[in-house]
Amino acid sequence: MVTEQTEKLGSEDSKWLGEYSQVHMNVFGTPLRVLDHGQGAHVWDVDGNEYLDFLAGIAVNSIGYAHPKWVKAVSEQAAKVAHTSNYFATEPQIKLAAKLVELAGAPEGSHVYFGNSGAEGNEAAIKLAKLYGRTLPGATPSIGGKPARIIALTHGFHGRTLGALSATWKPSIRTPFEPLVPGIEFVEAGNPMALYEAFAQTGQGHYGKGPVAAVIMELIQGEAGVRPLGADYVKKVRQMCDINHALLIIDEVQTGMGRTGKWFAFQREDLSGGVTPDMVTFAKGVAGGFPMGGMIAFGSKLSALFTPGSHGSTFAGNPLGAAASLATIGVIEDENLVANAEARGQQLRDGIMATGNPLFESARGRGLLDAVQLSHPCAHAVMNWALEHGLIVNAVAPDALRFAPPLNVTAQDVDQALAILARIPDDLPND
Ligand SMILES: *Cc1c(COP(=O)(O)O)cnc(C)c1O
Repeated sequence: MVTEQTEKLGSEDSKWLGEYSQVHMNVFGTPLRVLDHGQGAHVWDVDGNEYLDFLAGIAVNSIGYAHPKWVKAVSEQAAKVAHTSNYFATEPQIKLAAKLVELAGAPEGSHVYFGNSGAEGNEAAIKLAKLYGRTLPGATPSIGGKPARIIALTHGFHGRTLGALSATWKPSIRTPFEPLVPGIEFVEAGNPMALYEAFAQTGQGHYGKGPVAAVIMELIQGEAGVRPLGADYVKKVRQMCDINHALLIIDEVQTGMGRTGKWFAFQREDLSGGVTPDMVTFAKGVAGGFPMGGMIAFGSKLSALFTPGSHGSTFAGNPLGAAASLATIGVIEDENLVANAEARGQQLRDGIMATGNPLFESARGRGLLDAVQLSHPCAHAVMNWALEHGLIVNAVAPDALRFAPPLNVTAQDVDQALAILARIPDDLPND
């Protein structure tokens, strides 16, 4: 049971947070709590307070905390070999690459690059797109060509490393680090004309730009507040990419691995219009809490552009991460959690509106990547109120809450969360 927390933060929590601020770089602000252990969708802080976790480490803990099969797989792998370097390979790494190609329905000849985070998956995609761009007519500088471009969308988020940040829109987190990687441009998300115009700038002469190597996009813009771009728009993006020989990179770091009610969001007709990407990037939920990420290149021709020396990382494809990921995928399959994501997401969105709480204007999302639009911009106050009452949710925007519970969240857990959401006062102060 989630207990009502009427008392102030306990002593252990404030003691640790005091130390945190002394030694940990202040890039995340003050953490909300110091957590100690979890079970399923429930987690406990160092003072023993229990929370129902509807954020799950930002869509990472896809099979909840301490799933016995995950713990067993990671422990057994740790007892065998935890790391090898990429001078050597391991069985879990090879099995995982094959499994990801299968789940993505990628064509024969598709290959996987492993990294350790979402940003690294996108770095790999950007680098592969750059190599591809060099193969396009008009991109050869030695004969008067211009470097190929990459197009990203406004409100898109692709990570914090310099390459991924160059494709990340939010000015407050991007502009302090400019100049960034050149040749990455933004167009207005959801506006096909804007993309058409960006493609049309390719050309000869002084004002003409280089060809477009790739468009990188999310299908549901997660960090921007769980905003689906719409199947019609995505279909048009794919068509324009095809006409202009540009690649379509779909960033599934947040949407992937079952979260939206399919293994990948592009497999949802109502999100993608049925398009096939040229590259998919993944991370967050892929290994159920172990740092792991990467990129799937569709088809052998594109995959073959990466050759020995093109890219790499010491930890990439680490056997512990691969074992954690295989265990996570195994549990998602065995416990039918992709279908559960769809059903529980529906229950959550319907239930939020059925609370009748005037704070909630509308619910959106797919599967278990959801948000509720608030009647006024008080998301931080709402998040803190929910936390005090035993529910972890995320203030993804000043006027929206994000929900990304574990995929094995139960109907009872959802009801419990809804009971707390129903009681949130609708007159909390604005952020
Ligand atoms: C979280 C996220 C990233 C970055 O992942 P990290 O593991 O934090 O580097 C990239 N793209 C999307 C869509 C994300 O949600």
